[in-house]
Amino acid sequence: MSERVRCLIIGSGPAGYTATIYASRANLDPVLYEGIQPGGQLTTTTEVENFPGFPEGITGTELMEIMKKQAGRFGANLRNGIVTDVDLNASPKKVIIDGSKEIEADTVIISTGATAKYLGIPDEVKYAGMGVSACATCDGFFYRKKVVAVVGGGDTACEEAIYLSGLASKVYLIVRKPFLRASKVMQDRVADNPKIEVLFESNTLGLFGDNGVEGAHIVKRKGEADEEKFDIAIDGFFLAIGHTPNTAFLKGQIELDEAGYIATAGDRPLTNIEGVFAAGDVADPTYRQAITAAGSGCKAAIEAERYLAEKGL
Ligand code: NDP
Repeated sequence: MSERVRCLIIGSGPAGYTATIYASRANLDPVLYEGIQPGGQLTTTTEVENFPGFPEGITGTELMEIMKKQAGRFGANLRNGIVTDVDLNASPKKVIIDGSKEIEADTVIISTGATAKYLGIPDEVKYAGMGVSACATCDGFFYRKKVVAVVGGGDTACEEAIYLSGLASKVYLIVRKPFLRASKVMQDRVADNPKIEVLFESNTLGLFGDNGVEGAHIVKRKGEADEEKFDIAIDGFFLAIGHTPNTAFLKGQIELDEAGYIATAGDRPLTNIEGVFAAGDVADPTYRQAITAAGSGCKAAIEAERYLAEKGL
């Protein structure tokens, strides 16, 4: 037997919880499935100092706990479970949870987020929250007047290196190729920035330090006759090698862009399917902030409410 809901929200980061707050206060009786990582990416960061309303800062985990509490305050149904299959073109839309439970939904808000890519070296795990970060905007402030490294050669890596150069005393940019993939304008900005030193053809072998990151082991021109191994002294190690939007379960169902993000109508959370809305990082390769995700969750719930009213559902 399938269950019928008016508003199904998939994913429990700032976008999903904010959508739930708005949808439940609008009497849409939302049901939210938390997904693989309840609370989303913020639960993997330490201190959050840029979310308005918390002048002293708040830990990512605490922020998500109180958002969840607020989401549940107006009677929303918050559940554990992972969406394993969808038929978004059916009417109502069909969503399968944990391979067996079927939900029929009049509207669906997808807020499954994105996952930062890591190099896959064990030290990234060892020093998680102790000098390793995948978000310069979130964590850069903790490295004022310190030395940091950014890994990657794309626009994000250049942007983060430039951002960090405004805070740190020195920034290494560790690039595996002999050139930057970033746009020309970003390449020029990096080249003109005296605080940034680019280490081309370089890869990170590991990190070291007793109480957090104190340095990185680097190899240059690995496997070549002139291969060179050296250490750099750093306090922070930032990954900027891309993100993977969590849309694998949507393939063939909804319009995605080339990188796999859900395609939306400009700054509105509308997808190519009526009644299906996207909020947060799953549709945002550009800003990727908790506050922008929360804002788009609000927009998605308002759009869902209007859609249901228009259709008389
Ligand atoms: P990209 O995929 O463009 O770049 C990823 C970078 O990480 C590449 O330099 C890649 O190296 C490197 N990389 C990937 N895996 C590894 C690894 N295992 N070890 C070392 N290096 C690795 O991702 P971005 O996040 O930079 O950008 C995503 C999209 O968003 C792009 O289209 C970009 O243009 C856009 N963007 C635009 C901005 C703007 O206009 N202001 C700002 C930020 C992003 P390699 O080159 O060797 O493959």
